[in-house]
Amino acid sequence: METARTLRELSCADDYDPDSMPVDRARALIREFLQPLTAVERVHVRAALDRVLATDIASPLDVPGHDNSAMDGWAIRYADLASTGATLLRRVGESFAGKPFGGRLAAGETVRIFTGGVMPDGADTVVMQERATETPGGVSIAPGAVTREGQNRRFAGEDLRRGAIVFRTGQPLRPAELGMLASLGINEVTVYRKLRVAFFSTGDELRSIGQPLATGEIYDSNRYTLYGMLTRLHCDIVDMGVVPDSPDALEHAFATAADAADVVITSGGVSVGEADFVRDLMNKLGEVLFWKIAMKPGRPLAYGKIRNAHFFGLPGNPVSVMVTFYEFVRDALLVLQGRRDVAPPPMFKARLGKAIRKVPGRTEFQRGILEPSDVGGYTVRTTGDQGSGILSSMSQANCFIVLPADAGNLDVGTDVDVQVLEGLL
Ligand code: AMP
Ligand code: MG
Repeated sequence: METARTLRELSCADDYDPDSMPVDRARALIREFLQPLTAVERVHVRAALDRVLATDIASPLDVPGHDNSAMDGWAIRYADLASTGATLLRRVGESFAGKPFGGRLAAGETVRIFTGGVMPDGADTVVMQERATETPGGVSIAPGAVTREGQNRRFAGEDLRRGAIVFRTGQPLRPAELGMLASLGINEVTVYRKLRVAFFSTGDELRSIGQPLATGEIYDSNRYTLYGMLTRLHCDIVDMGVVPDSPDALEHAFATAADAADVVITSGGVSVGEADFVRDLMNKLGEVLFWKIAMKPGRPLAYGKIRNAHFFGLPGNPVSVMVTFYEFVRDALLVLQGRRDVAPPPMFKARLGKAIRKVPGRTEFQRGILEPSDVGGYTVRTTGDQGSGILSSMSQANCFIVLPADAGNLDVGTDVDVQVLEGLL
């Protein structure tokens, strides 16, 4: 494990090639420089949804708190059951969920019990109601209704034991965790504060929605995909608009963004030619590395620190922005948010429904449509034209087809890796 290197040391390492950076290597290098947030806040359980726990949580209770019934039926003493034939027992009371039977079960007695009802003292087993009949003479338990002592009985603490660690620091709080916290009677938790992310688009050709377009100008879409992706990741966002390709305007924007946020994300301005100009600026404001990632789309990528903020300089093309965000920025933001379980987006195999042409050399993230196959499993095909400016391909896609760098053309029927987009963000 390479640790505690500065970006400058890293850029001098022998095996470091900024002109051909494999996807995995870039991801690992970025990881070296990420320190989770340390600031925390106390929030109510409801407000904790999608936040990250900043302390361990030990259970203050046994859950469930008492032995109770898993069924509607009859609480009995296993020892009372006849070895052959039916057993006749005397009903002495009821135990409802939340309203226990107050007495103690003696030999030959039974208590009507409902799911969640506390096991009466003396009872050890529950007979499901379908295997018993109540008659004026008593409750008749069918032969073979019970196969073992303790059947249909839930034990105190079988879900959670008092004092046991329920969640560790770094646990993301999803609906299941909110429910578990509530089941422990916990109404407030300590979570990491939200990550602040500032972003802007660079380019003289860009106009914001609501403005008229002159010839050659285009609307800025990257700020909207970024807004969507960052919102899905529960960040506090600072949208700084469009910044023209001028050194003064960019310097001012970078400095303002780095002061306002934990992370600065830009799009455009990192391709060859444009990068030289941004590079000078970055050397002045911080330490930034410019990489040509061996991937398609999304070749240029800048990563570094501007003052205390992490900086991601994404390519300008709309599809490249989304692919590089999913592959590099998403992971990094999760780590910074305090998550401990961060892994690249999961992949699984699907069968190609249509051949793909590919030149070996770069990892490709083709936009794909994944469908259940008639013969079981899933088939996948591309959305068609894979140009990095064709944002509609992202909208049509429900997955990336991830083709390894060394792969060439692929025939119909080949198993390929896919990353499902739904749920990724
Ligand atoms: P660049 O990396 O700045 O050379 O941009 C590459 C391509 O992406 C150019 O065609 C730009 O016009 C386009 N582009 C850059 N930024 C945006 C944006 N925010 N929204 C839409 N297209 C963009
Ligand atoms: Mg540009």
